[in-house]
Amino acid sequence: MDSEKLKYFEDRLLNEREKVLEELKDLSNTIKSSSINPNGNDSAYSFHIADLGTDTMEREKTFLFASAEGRLLKQIDEALQRIYDHKYGVCEMCSEPISDDRLDAIPYTQLCINCKRDAEERQRSDYRLG
Ligand SMILES: [Zn+2]
Repeated sequence: MDSEKLKYFEDRLLNEREKVLEELKDLSNTIKSSSINPNGNDSAYSFHIADLGTDTMEREKTFLFASAEGRLLKQIDEALQRIYDHKYGVCEMCSEPISDDRLDAIPYTQLCINCKRDAEERQRSDYRLG
């Protein structure tokens, strides 16, 4: 891959990284603020069990999302590392080049479209055996 293209994908990844970091920051603020009693009155608050329930669910969702974002951040960092190691744009499984279209859609992908399909197929059959 030529240096101009690498630069392009590096920029894409750095932008993506910033967005994810921003979202993670928002999420941690959400978690912090949702654990504070908004009324400052414990007895009034505990009467709203239903509200408390949704609040807990919201927080769980936030944690799940945070961990998905966390994984995404790791994938982005690994992709950047591959750029700096001059290994970017090569499939981790078959060592074939990943198409530009695919990299453009998912700049942090590690697999070419064929291996990705294979991996998803295997996941599905593992699930069936499950
Ligand atoms: Zn492949």
